[in-house]
Amino acid sequence: MQAQEDSTRPSVSGLVDRFGRMAMDLRVSLTDRCNLRCTYCMPEEGLAWLPKQTLLTDDEVVQLVRIAVERLGVTEIRFTGGEPMLRPGLVKIVSDTAALSPRPKLSVTTNGIGLTRLAGALAAVGLDRVNVSLDTLRPGRFEALARRSRLEDVLTGLRTADEAGLRPVKLNAVLMRGINDDEAVDLLSFALEHGYELRFIEQMPLDAQHAWRREDMVAGEEILAQLRSVFTLTPDPHLRGAAPAETWLVDGFVGMDGEPAKVGVIASVTQPFCGACDRTRLTADGQVRNCLFSEDETDLRGLVRAGADDEMIADAWRAAMWGKRAGHGIDDPTFLQPSRPMSAIGG
Ligand code: SAM
Ligand code: SF4
Repeated sequence: MQAQEDSTRPSVSGLVDRFGRMAMDLRVSLTDRCNLRCTYCMPEEGLAWLPKQTLLTDDEVVQLVRIAVERLGVTEIRFTGGEPMLRPGLVKIVSDTAALSPRPKLSVTTNGIGLTRLAGALAAVGLDRVNVSLDTLRPGRFEALARRSRLEDVLTGLRTADEAGLRPVKLNAVLMRGINDDEAVDLLSFALEHGYELRFIEQMPLDAQHAWRREDMVAGEEILAQLRSVFTLTPDPHLRGAAPAETWLVDGFVGMDGEPAKVGVIASVTQPFCGACDRTRLTADGQVRNCLFSEDETDLRGLVRAGADDEMIADAWRAAMWGKRAGHGIDDPTFLQPSRPMSAIGG
C-alpha cells in the first residue's frame, strides 16, 4: 500500500515521522532465501521465495541506497535478509555503497556460514562490521535449532571475519524456552574469550509459522539473571541513543579495542524501544517498511522501474516514514503479526 499524501508533513529532507523521530539507519534485505531454517524464523520446507523478477537488481539496490544517503540523511546501512551472503552481487553492492558520499557506516547481518568465503573480499571493499547470529555452541542443538549441521562453518566464519578486521564482530543470540535457555553464560564466556560482542535478542512474533508464544520467550530480565549468577554486570555509562540493545559492562573483562567488555540485551518485547527507533527498512523486492511490525509498505521498485527521478523516490520514502506508528503494539489486544516473516522483511 502506498503512503497517503498528508498536508501536515513538514517539508524537510530527512525521514521524520509524526512523533519527532528521524530515521538514519537503513536495513536493506538482499534476499529472502536462506541456507538455514532456524525454527524461530522459517519452517523446515522453507517459504515460497519472492519471484526473481520482483527482486531489486544490484543496480536498483545501489540506486535506492544512494538516494537514502544523498537525499534522506541516512548514515548507516545494514545489509541483511534472509541470508545476505547468498546474494551473488553482495561484494559489488557493498563496494558501490562504500563509495557513496557522505560514506555511510556499513555492516552485514549474517548467519556466518558465508564469511569464510567472503569476509576478506567484503573487508577489502569497505565493509566495516558484521553481526553474526549464534544461538548455541553445541553442535547437536545447532542442528536441531537451525535444521542444518553447520556450527563449525559458523565458528570458522567468525574467526575469518575477525582476522579480516571486521571488528568488533558482534554476535546475536535468541534464547528459546527448553531449547537453549540454559546457554546464556556459555555464550557470553565464548564471546569474552574471543573478543566478540554479544547481544541477546528476545524472540519476537515474526516467524513465518506464526507459532510464537509469549510463554516460550526468554525475557531479557531472565537472561540478565542467568548472566549475573556468574558475571558482575554494571550499566554501560555510554548513552544508549537509538541503539536497541541495553548494554552492560562485564567487570574484569576487556574487549578487543582495550575498552571494558560489554554484553547487550535487546528486549524488543518486554521493554520496547520504539520511542527512540531510527530505522527504515527496504525489502529485497523494493518495498519500504517503516517498522518491522508494520502492515503497510511503499513500493519503490515500481517507481524506479517507471523511471521516477531521485526526488520523487525520495519523497515517496519520506511519506512512508511519516506514517510510522508510535510503537509496535505487541502488547495491544488488537496486535496483528505482520504477514511477511522476518526473513522476508530483513531482520
Ligand atoms: N540470516 C541472517 C542471520 O540469521 O543473521 C540475517 C537475517 S535474520 C532474519 C536477522 C536476525 O533476526 C538474526 O539475528 C536472527 O536471529 C533474528 N531473528 C529471526 N527471527 C527472529 C524472531 N522471531 N525473533 C527475534 N529475532 C529473530
Ligand atoms: Fe536464515 Fe537468519 Fe532466518 Fe536463521 S534467522 S533461518 S539464518 S534468515
